[in-house]
Amino acid sequence: MQDKGINSTFKKIIYESSEMVFLADDTYPYSIFYTNEAFDEKIGDSLKERNLVGLGLDINAYIFKEELVLTHGQKEFSFRLELPQDSGSNYFLFYKGKEIKSFGLPSKKEAYQFFTSKLDVIAIGKHDHLTYLNSMVLPVLGYEPVELMNTNLCSFVHTDDLEHLQNVWKIHSKSLEPIFHSFRFKAKNSSYKLLECAIQFTQESFFVIARDVSSRTSGQEDEAKLATLINKLPSLSRACSFKYSGESKELNWGLSEEELQEKFQISEKQRASLSNEISSFLTKLYFEEKENQNLDGEFSSLNGINFKYSLFIPKTSPSSIWGVIWDQKEKEELQEQATVLGKYWEECPEAMMILGWDGHILRMNHVAKSLFDLDDLSLNKHFNSLTIFSEEENSWSDWRAKIEDGKAQSKFAVRCFEESENPLTIEVALKRLELPSGDQAIVSFRNISEQVTLEKTIEQSSDFLMNLTEQVPGGLYQLVLNSEGQMNFSFLSKGINSVLGISQEEIHQFTDISSAISKVHPQDLPTVIMSSVASAKKMEPWQCQFRVKSGDQDQPYRWVLGAARPQAMENGDMVWYGYLTDITKQKEFETKLDEARKAAEKATQIKSDFLSMISHELRTPLNAISGSVYSLFHENPTDSQKSALNTINFAVDNLIIMINDLLDFQKIEAGKLTIEHNPLNLKGLLEQIIKGLSFHAADSKNKLALHLSNGLDLAVKGDKTRLSQILNNLITNALKFTQEGNVDVKVELLGQVRNKVRIYFEVKDSGIGIAPENQEKIFNDFDQVRPTFSTKYGGTGLGLSITRKLLKLMGGNIALESQVGKGSKFFFELEFEVAEQELAVIQEVKSKSISFDTLHLLMAEDNDVNSLVLGKIIKKWGFTYDRVLNGLEAVEAVKNNSYDCILMDIQMPEMDGFEATTEIKKFSDIPVIALTAAAKLEIMEKIDEIGFEGFVAKPIDAAELLKRIKEVITEKNYKA
Ligand code: ADP
Repeated sequence: MQDKGINSTFKKIIYESSEMVFLADDTYPYSIFYTNEAFDEKIGDSLKERNLVGLGLDINAYIFKEELVLTHGQKEFSFRLELPQDSGSNYFLFYKGKEIKSFGLPSKKEAYQFFTSKLDVIAIGKHDHLTYLNSMVLPVLGYEPVELMNTNLCSFVHTDDLEHLQNVWKIHSKSLEPIFHSFRFKAKNSSYKLLECAIQFTQESFFVIARDVSSRTSGQEDEAKLATLINKLPSLSRACSFKYSGESKELNWGLSEEELQEKFQISEKQRASLSNEISSFLTKLYFEEKENQNLDGEFSSLNGINFKYSLFIPKTSPSSIWGVIWDQKEKEELQEQATVLGKYWEECPEAMMILGWDGHILRMNHVAKSLFDLDDLSLNKHFNSLTIFSEEENSWSDWRAKIEDGKAQSKFAVRCFEESENPLTIEVALKRLELPSGDQAIVSFRNISEQVTLEKTIEQSSDFLMNLTEQVPGGLYQLVLNSEGQMNFSFLSKGINSVLGISQEEIHQFTDISSAISKVHPQDLPTVIMSSVASAKKMEPWQCQFRVKSGDQDQPYRWVLGAARPQAMENGDMVWYGYLTDITKQKEFETKLDEARKAAEKATQIKSDFLSMISHELRTPLNAISGSVYSLFHENPTDSQKSALNTINFAVDNLIIMINDLLDFQKIEAGKLTIEHNPLNLKGLLEQIIKGLSFHAADSKNKLALHLSNGLDLAVKGDKTRLSQILNNLITNALKFTQEGNVDVKVELLGQVRNKVRIYFEVKDSGIGIAPENQEKIFNDFDQVRPTFSTKYGGTGLGLSITRKLLKLMGGNIALESQVGKGSKFFFELEFEVAEQELAVIQEVKSKSISFDTLHLLMAEDNDVNSLVLGKIIKKWGFTYDRVLNGLEAVEAVKNNSYDCILMDIQMPEMDGFEATTEIKKFSDIPVIALTAAAKLEIMEKIDEIGFEGFVAKPIDAAELLKRIKEVITEKNYKA
């Protein structure tokens, strides 16, 4: 290899290059004098001649070319001339290159040959102009390539073909699809050449291979012209082409005779006469007006049908006339139809657009324009250029994809005018229209904004309700009973799960009512069913408490409260809207409450029992003390003894009052006190009370006076004991809290209506008075103004409280007026029923005179002290008596002896006073007086029931007992 003066650094660079490199002389035969390994491997080693000729290059064409394209061993290589190198006085060529990976495509050289070949016109262009034309354009069209480069091609295309070509161009240039299309192109000599073109679009440019087919189709051109005429009458049924030969005067229809008859709906005869008419018309035309190449006109024929024609003289046969005839009336009708259809389109209440398949807006109707605020300026614009829809929804290619794969129609919603104040939601419906001139799309738009807003509102309120049903404690349901008697849950809220202890999965199977019933406790089932049936029948709200299975082993059932309201539907169904809620805790609480109530009742009972027991126990010794004091008074005591006895009496009286008060209070509290309605004489009773307290009055140095109005001497039905108790209480208090003053008791008849009288009672004293702040307090239980008083005056603080309660039971109300230091006035009113009859009887009894000088009594008393005291009293009266120790003995004694009266203790061993009296009453009418220390209220009823004639409380008041004995004997005598 020659050195040519190349330095070693340069050699090294060349040698290490990954590209193929060779250096060659710049003079013939252009010997390759230096190569690198990459070059040798692919080309150099197999070269026969190491020069440019050996590389197969046309020296003249390639020398100094910037790029060498060469083929070697069926591979193509491309070399670039880096630079001709100046090495001292020598120039040489420096090529660098690589293999072109063409995958079977022609080499550049071949491609070049192909483009420059004289096969067809080959052109390359951009948009609407050409950038390259091969030399075939000269022989075919008469232009030098440069004449057609960079000129708008439209002016060269035949006007009849231009519109169609533009349409086809528009559609396919976007989709990059190849097309095959023929059109007429103006040659340099102004004649038109029919070019049959194959056009390939790329992103940037288009390639055309055009072949002149004019010579081949000069006959076809005439045919095409005829076809164009026919095509201008697209949907006409009564239209037909024809060819008329001027030489032979022969008329040939474009249809067979039968077809023609059928199309024109004419008979054979009519067809023949039509042919004749047209033939003679054309003959005339042929001879007279042949110089006109295109003729249009009309003539009437066949029962006045108005035919129109369009004629021309074919190039290939100048002695002929070709053309079409048609029924003008039908054409007009069709045109009218088209107008009407156009109107339909324009006036269609739905917004409509017709888009080219590439997305250009071809038509839009009135509603579309107003919906999107567009005008005709938007026509022919691309759909994507409208700023109506938000960007992501505005891509025509996306919309088109929805109907591309054979889908006939696609419907979807899009948002538009997103940025504006009133964005709209539009429902889009798309349909592909397959037309001979290319596919289009018909798009309709419907404003569904209101509907969407409404749906949203409904959804929101339904969400709210749903949330509400889920959040309320317990579960809500809707139960439907249809006309066939089937019951189903049509709605169950989530809360039902926890109330009924069922899982979310189970709830779907729970719609059947029988599965709900199976959950109910068998004991509660009848109640549930009965109440439901009643609710359905009466259309009344249903409510029920029942137990349902809980699925919990520790607590197998839980309590549930169910409530629902039935409603009858128009279709006959009955619907209950209701809820179920867990009331297990409440039930547990109720049970505990019930237990507590029972315990409290029991405690009260125990208290009451205890009180009556204690009172009995207390009365017996008090009885003894009182009795003993009574007898001591009759044994001439000294003055000091008398004073001591009085003190004892006072103490005992107080104790008795206290016990009685406590027992009464207890009775009233327990609600066991009843008011009697027995005949009593008001005047008599009042006088008796005053008389009973006169000693007390004298003792406290007070003047006690009774003031009665007229008309009080009458019998009324009332409770003598309770009325006495009330007045006793008030008068005793007045005497207690007055020293050397007056106590006036005033009773007035206020009025009488039929058999009812109204009476006013008043107890007035001139005592210490009650301060205003204490006036209400003193009526409270156990309240005294000053507790210290009780030591001086005695009392429990229960008296007024009981008085008020008793008066309430009798229908009265106590009132008080008082001034400290001046005195107090307690007053109230009561109403009584008048009882004349009974009173008359009593008064009559009183009038009978009976001798009570000697009486023989039976005393049934187990307690020796009591028996001793009572015995002494009886003897004092000058009566005689027998004593027995129990009821049994009493019954025996009555059987064997005769007595005037029996004094019967109630609590006795063997047989008590009740039993004994019951026995005695079976065979004897001797009056029996009960003596008991037990609370009188408690035993009063029983005493009445058994038939005791009287009752005296222990400790016995001797005077009272004597009075009672006399009364019962008198009554007995009267009855007898
Ligand atoms: P007590 O058994 O203590 O008398 P009460 O209920 O009868 O109970 O009376 C309650 C208190 O009312 C008495 O302790 C007394 O302070 C006062 N009180 C009742 N009546 C009178 C009265 N006529 N004059 C002054 N104070 C009275």
